[in-house]
Amino acid sequence: ASKNSSRTNWKKSYDEFASELKLLKDLNVSLQNRVHDILDLYEVTKKMSASLDTGEMLRIFREAISKISKFVTARVILLEESHHKPTTARVTYEMHNPSTGKLSSGEIRSGPPDKFDQVLAETVSAGKEIISLKAPIDKGHPFAPYLGATGRSLIALPLLSEGEPLGILAIRGIDEEHTESFSILSKQLALELKKINLYEKVQELAITDGLTGIYVRRHFMERLNEEVARSKRHNLKLSLLMIDLDHFKQCNDTYGHLVGDIVLKEISRIMKEYVRQVDLIGRYGGEEFVIALPDTDKNSAVNVADRIRMSVEKHKFRAYDETISMTISIGVATFPENGEDVATLIDRADQALYKAKEEGRNKAVSCP
Ligand code: GH3
Ligand code: MG
Ligand code: MG
Repeated sequence: ASKNSSRTNWKKSYDEFASELKLLKDLNVSLQNRVHDILDLYEVTKKMSASLDTGEMLRIFREAISKISKFVTARVILLEESHHKPTTARVTYEMHNPSTGKLSSGEIRSGPPDKFDQVLAETVSAGKEIISLKAPIDKGHPFAPYLGATGRSLIALPLLSEGEPLGILAIRGIDEEHTESFSILSKQLALELKKINLYEKVQELAITDGLTGIYVRRHFMERLNEEVARSKRHNLKLSLLMIDLDHFKQCNDTYGHLVGDIVLKEISRIMKEYVRQVDLIGRYGGEEFVIALPDTDKNSAVNVADRIRMSVEKHKFRAYDETISMTISIGVATFPENGEDVATLIDRADQALYKAKEEGRNKAVSCP
């Protein structure tokens, strides 16, 4: 009998051992999944933080959502600064619709805020707290009229920056177990939104271009408008040079973008050498520059253009052990004979530049 009972004991402990082992294995799998989730989230948030554009960042964010769960519908409502009103930039991601079972396109739809956006914005801005409604949502709940299917949970997370709501992340159909991941993600999203807001403000305030130190296009245009008005008042001429690097794409392709950047910087430096204190230099596009020469007629302007052009031609650009040659083409237009307003002048200078390119590049061409 004792032999028998010891065998049952042994059997029992074996079963216990086996079930414990299974528990451990399951735990291990779930931990591994969790680590995977976190690593995935980490990767995707890293990508998010590399973006300085709201639209692009939200597209990456959508990817993050789908990594946590494919069965949710998410909506990002951006709030107008300091007014807490929803802005026109409502972003909706229809990830999956469990009621139809269909996976939708996951498209980003943005449009004017609807009534529910407004209600959510008011509620969340007032309380700055998480709203969490478990499914099924009470038909009498003030949100219920906007929800359609009340059989799906709703969680609305305020996107706070220093206590100020920048927006709201609203998710339908979330699983209890994913609440924490979404909460982490909402904090990351708030941070990214804040960063992009700041970046855009700095860009708006910027007068000079970060790479070349010359005027950004917007500021150049403002100053040019003033200069043209002044030339009109005082009956003075003003010339405009439109400058474009020749075959610059090839330079990038051969030596890389960083080398290209150094060439752009160096050309800006050369241009500065040949202009006066009163002249304006701007970066018009990526590799396009503009120079405004107040009180300068066409002949003198073509002279300046040719001197800059020849200086670039004979310059040896050195970057990361590479020695590169570069040429530029220039179009010249003059106020008032080629145009009496900024838009026309720019247009005419651009046409002349096009002609310089057509005639073989490394040339300065002026408007007739
Ligand atoms: P073309 O003589 O007709 O002007 O030929 P292109 O190759 O210069 O003209 P295209 O417009 O085809 O290419 C312009 C290139 O300038 C493409 C783009 O990658 C490069 N570019 C624009 N902005 C920057 C920049 O800030 N840095 C660098 N490195 N490259 C730039
Ligand atoms: Mg160009
Ligand atoms: Mg070019």
